[in-house]
Amino acid sequence: MSVSENASAKSRQLMTELQSRGLRLVDPAAGASSRRGGAGPSDHKAVTVDGVTIMVPVHTSTAWNSPFVASQPDENGTSALMSGTIPIASIRFPKQPRFYALQTLDGVPYSQIATLHSADVLATTVLQTCIRYESRRKACKFCAIGQSLAAGRTIARKTPEQLAEVARAAVLLDGVKHMVLTTGTPPTPDRGAKILCESAFAIRSAVDLPIQAQCEPPDDDRWFERMKASGIDTLGMHLEVVTPEVRERIMPGKATVPLARYMEAFKAAVAVFGRGQVSTYILAGLGDSATGILDMSRELIEIGVYPFVVPFVPISGTPLEDHPAPSPGFMKSVLAPLGAMLREAGMRSADIKAGCGKCGACSSLSSYEE
Ligand code: SF4
Repeated sequence: MSVSENASAKSRQLMTELQSRGLRLVDPAAGASSRRGGAGPSDHKAVTVDGVTIMVPVHTSTAWNSPFVASQPDENGTSALMSGTIPIASIRFPKQPRFYALQTLDGVPYSQIATLHSADVLATTVLQTCIRYESRRKACKFCAIGQSLAAGRTIARKTPEQLAEVARAAVLLDGVKHMVLTTGTPPTPDRGAKILCESAFAIRSAVDLPIQAQCEPPDDDRWFERMKASGIDTLGMHLEVVTPEVRERIMPGKATVPLARYMEAFKAAVAVFGRGQVSTYILAGLGDSATGILDMSRELIEIGVYPFVVPFVPISGTPLEDHPAPSPGFMKSVLAPLGAMLREAGMRSADIKAGCGKCGACSSLSSYEE
């Protein structure tokens, strides 16, 4: 169930607070494994609140000081959520997916090829290396793409055959509903579009599963047609932060791709994938003002792009591990007006065919669309 379908004002507030403040766990082994390192938001765990599954930071310094504690789950997997010593809600942890028990014929555990996000999304980083990450000077300061690789929790390149095999098992055994294919940026002008096409083609040949691909804008807009033809349903090109000065400070390598190129690529991609089927991630809490995020979001919505604004999670081991997470008040000051903008534009998370905007677990944004 998507966040927007089942969130009362009270649970929406609780979700926003949990995502900002994180959660301490009496039993760290409860539910499906938490995610550490890797591309995108991490160091968090899937938690179901009021029937809605969200990702909540559990391994960050903010989380270790969180006022929220999840008690030991009972035999039904239900845990009491405490604020200090006061029980405030019942929560659950999605179970470890069954496909995690399998491995490929050549001995690679399926969990190193793709992982379960939220309750029903399969996600993978096709290429776990990135031209930006290879130099400390150029790397995005929030990113941990190399950590899970260094720790042996994943492999550097997932082949199309491996992805197809795991996707099929995840659909059959665990009922996953859509898939996210992200990638580190390779040193080729297509910025990863080619390997995303090859991966999607193999997956769609094996199983009927809507796919979102995520990459930097490729050099040539014709890649969007090729991606669509390969079986990719939606596309994410992630701005991460929006103010020029913040872009240069937080992601010096990626900031060399000008905002103007992103806007051009967004327009070309919307013409191929359709309005609302192209999205961008914006990490709130890294220095952009609420007005800056909202102004950019307005511009994006006008051209048909869904701005998926999520609270920044300070991942351990990154240069920003001690950077504070945004406060619940700041998140609300962005998400409430943004939800209204999306509602007015008739652009809803639930109408996205696949990917992060549809999943919505890393932000309570879609609950504000109501
Ligand atoms: S919003 Fe995206 S990154 Fe977050 S849990 Fe869902 S699929 Fe994963």
